[in-house]
Amino acid sequence: MDEYKYREQHRINEYNLKQSRFFIKERYPNIENISIRLDFTYLGIDKIKKSRTIIYTPEQRDYFKIECINSECVNTDLDLSNEINSMISNKENILKGEKICNGYQDYERFMAKNHHCLATMCFEIEIQYK
Ligand SMILES: [Zn+2]
Repeated sequence: MDEYKYREQHRINEYNLKQSRFFIKERYPNIENISIRLDFTYLGIDKIKKSRTIIYTPEQRDYFKIECINSECVNTDLDLSNEINSMISNKENILKGEKICNGYQDYERFMAKNHHCLATMCFEIEIQYK
């Protein structure tokens, strides 16, 4: 399969997965919002740093996969679903942590099954309850 087809299929699969998820207001009616502050570092030839904040409202679906900072990344696995689910079960407000992307650095390396992505994600999740 060529790179374009692979990425397109992956994009469609993720879209379908997202559409199959519950709305946050259905699954977690006691949530006001979830805000996720992300600080990415990518240690390629050039070191890249990037921050962003994502806010989830009750109208959105409980799909908490995060896009990798490395646009060439294949099969990124940055996902905060487990963290968020356990925070909600324990009624926690803030969680900080770090994850390393387990995707591949680019398509060529994905085909060769070597060189994992070089992105690290620090996160701070804050949940507001009603
Ligand atoms: Zn990655």
